[in-house]
Amino acid sequence: MRITAIRVFQVDLPLVERAYAWSEGKKVEVFDSTVVRVETDAGLVGHGECCPLGPVYLPAYAAGVRAGLAEIAPQLIGLDPTELDVVNRRMDYLLKGHPYVKSAVDIACWDITGQAAGMPVCQLLGGRFGEDVVLYRAISQLPPAEMAGNVARHKRDGYTRFQLKVGGRPDEDIERIRQARAVLGPSDVLVADANTGWLMHDAVRVVNAVRDLDVYIEQPCARYDDCLTIRRRTSLPFVLDENIDSIDAVLRAASDGACDVVNLKIAKFGGLTRARQVRDLCVSLGLAMTIEDTWGGDIVTAAIAHLAHSTPEPFRFTATDFNSYVTTTIADGAPRRENGRMRAAEAPGLGVKPRDEVLGEPVLIA
Ligand code: MG
Repeated sequence: MRITAIRVFQVDLPLVERAYAWSEGKKVEVFDSTVVRVETDAGLVGHGECCPLGPVYLPAYAAGVRAGLAEIAPQLIGLDPTELDVVNRRMDYLLKGHPYVKSAVDIACWDITGQAAGMPVCQLLGGRFGEDVVLYRAISQLPPAEMAGNVARHKRDGYTRFQLKVGGRPDEDIERIRQARAVLGPSDVLVADANTGWLMHDAVRVVNAVRDLDVYIEQPCARYDDCLTIRRRTSLPFVLDENIDSIDAVLRAASDGACDVVNLKIAKFGGLTRARQVRDLCVSLGLAMTIEDTWGGDIVTAAIAHLAHSTPEPFRFTATDFNSYVTTTIADGAPRRENGRMRAAEAPGLGVKPRDEVLGEPVLIA
């Protein structure tokens, strides 16, 4: 089988809650997502998606996905999309770094490989563990009482795990955590995600002030060493996200005992092939994971569902259903949340069928 064409589409994904805000006043109102369609001489067509969380979350941005694809896509024509390591090695040869640029191509090749094998992607990634995947809800940064209200509202929707966006003023963040915890039951999980927004003295104030609560602390500071310092000064369970962007970073964090959970975002590693390597390494190291992506619509959500569903349940801290945060449906067949859970599709490949009328005309054809 050979790749005969790659088409790239741009889609806007407005948010149901109109805006998503996190540390330091950063926010996004409409997500800019890129969908990649890989076509083959066998008649099989695969789809992938990459959606950075705006330009100021990680070193990635939406127009950069498409600029990078313009560099590499023409030189992928003729490759066999089911030779996933060959495709990835070629992409790395053509463009150094920029893993997020390669993510959607890799996901589309997994979609094709699954269709060619007649199996859902989760089966190729290791098999289906359990009936479904437990999801978390990210709670956009607002004044403390409004955030607690939103936690309560999403709990009524069936969510049992919540990620509060903190990383603001320490006194206000302490209130955010206290008020959110107060509306939850003992079995509900609460994570306070500062998204690198605190300096060390801010972080120490917050972790000391909430040490009596059942709450996880996520990525308090920008620098890994600063996070490690806070980790060593708190008894609260600890999550690293922005600093975990490579195999090396996982190995170092595991060796330092720097966290209890890592956040595995597919685009951060460059697609499902590399994310699976990191997932399998975390299982070997005994590290639990949040399995997700930087953002996205139905295609990203399907990819998350396949990676999460093929991860042994004890290692699945939680996962994300990004398609429920946005108003636009870009593909049919993607997982739909039910009672705070989702499951990977049974159909071959990712199990999604993009809506051509939503994708519109391609912005790039290779
Ligand atoms: Mg995070």
